[in-house]
Amino acid sequence: MATVRKPADPAALVRQNALGVALMGIEAVPAFTRSAAPEVAAAAARKLPPVEGCPDAVDYPPSPQSKALEAVRQRYLADAPHNAFGYSFTNLVFGEGDPCAKLMFIGEAPGADEDRTGRPFVGRAGALLNNMIKAMGLRRQDVYIANVLKVRPPNNATPTHEERAASAPYLFDQIAAIRPQVIVTLGLPATQVVLGSDQSMGRLRSIWGEFRHPDTKRHPDVIVPVMPTYHPAYLLRAYTAENRNMVWADLKKAMDKLGLKGAATPAQ
Ligand code: URA
Repeated sequence: MATVRKPADPAALVRQNALGVALMGIEAVPAFTRSAAPEVAAAAARKLPPVEGCPDAVDYPPSPQSKALEAVRQRYLADAPHNAFGYSFTNLVFGEGDPCAKLMFIGEAPGADEDRTGRPFVGRAGALLNNMIKAMGLRRQDVYIANVLKVRPPNNATPTHEERAASAPYLFDQIAAIRPQVIVTLGLPATQVVLGSDQSMGRLRSIWGEFRHPDTKRHPDVIVPVMPTYHPAYLLRAYTAENRNMVWADLKKAMDKLGLKGAATPAQ
């Protein structure tokens, strides 16, 4: 269980982060597809400048990132590392979003809604994550969202170390395919896997870490700053202003690194 650290002056933090708190209210999850909007409109709405060689709105012809991601997905399907654990699941939840994203969110494992749809973070925790993304001044399709586990563990159990270890290589290769500029890990299992740490969330949260691809021969230059924060599902269980402020403070650190200013107007 994550340790909640008290800020020095919770009241001041609440005032300072009032905008972020307001923005993190729950709303319905919009259907997510890769935007088919005209490229000009998409580019105008987008806060991050496009990555060279990556199309902004429509990933066709496929970017190198997109092809690399597909290769990882095919390898996962061929290897099916979940078979070792006898899962019964409906859909693989590989991940979704912009293959050229500068910001990547990594969660723990698909839940029932994700298993049903094959998409990450589409349940209540996903609605909160959507609002966090919006508060950062981005759209869901501007980022990439993945989980450590690609299939739902029985009864939504926290993944064991063996399950994490079996899935981690594919996550690491997803990161190498996308090469985001910042990773935000959501909750303890994702944080520990990405940072290769066994420390608690209380120790790791809000402190910049670093992801280095363990296969340094193949990926010597895949080194990505990592901002660990609480999982949206934890936030929903403990929906206090203090916890929301802590998550917002973490997101602001990620925004600063990416040069993002955040949303101009709060979501209703
Ligand atoms: N929780 C996660 O960690 N991932 C999801 O995709 C949904 C809920």
